[in-house]
Amino acid sequence: MPAKRKRKAQRLCVAYETSDGEKSEGADLPVVTVWEPQEWQQQLTNIRIMRSKKDAPVDHLGAEHCCDPSAPPKVQRYQILLALMLSSQTKDQVTAGAMQRLLAQGLTVDSILQTDDNTLGKLIYPVGFWRSKVKFIKQTSAILKQRYNGDIPASLAELVALPGVGPKMAHLAMAVAWGTVSGIAVDTHVHRIANRLKWTKRMTKSPEETRAALEEWLPRQLWSEINGLLVGFGQQICLPTHPRCQTCLNQALCPSAQSF
Ligand code: SF4
Repeated sequence: MPAKRKRKAQRLCVAYETSDGEKSEGADLPVVTVWEPQEWQQQLTNIRIMRSKKDAPVDHLGAEHCCDPSAPPKVQRYQILLALMLSSQTKDQVTAGAMQRLLAQGLTVDSILQTDDNTLGKLIYPVGFWRSKVKFIKQTSAILKQRYNGDIPASLAELVALPGVGPKMAHLAMAVAWGTVSGIAVDTHVHRIANRLKWTKRMTKSPEETRAALEEWLPRQLWSEINGLLVGFGQQICLPTHPRCQTCLNQALCPSAQSF
């Protein structure tokens, strides 16, 4: 049974200039406290090992795998955004199936705008909240046609302003479609696992809260890796209910292992 572990804070010394312009260092200096979770680096290494086969659904069915590689770049970006919109509250396999049916029709802004709602609903069913998504896809496609010449916007603020596009989708769209890391994309898997591993200073109630808490301490160079890594880990081992703690390399390091 793993022992409960205390949280730790890393202490950093900051040097300030003295009145004569020289830098002072040492005991008299103010100390800036930067919190980070205990043993997160070892936990991350273990997750990388557990994910080394890259054989989780997200690894071959994620949004970046759901577009037509022969389509023009702006059409591919639109297809990626659409896959992300379909993916909320939906298993990767179901999203991929819906995307295959849409791609078979030739998936562009114009083709979606020319498809009636009833037909679009049948094509994307049974993705979660498919009725609302029909509405959002139509509204977003019309905006993309009018304001962005059929492309998707290249800023986080403009992406989240589109109907049906939340922060997680926007961060992923920036990363996958534009190759820009704008923040950590946090879905239910990342939210759940970050809380189980106590990677947030205190329990967080929403993915957005978790994103802000992770971005406070997780080195920026890891931001793009963390979503795919933890989503696959959540699909295969740290399951929503009945996580497979017995087979998890983090069992001895995980503050939540004993609660399952
Ligand atoms: S020990 Fe269990 S709860 Fe902790 S990270 Fe592993 S699977 Fe998840």
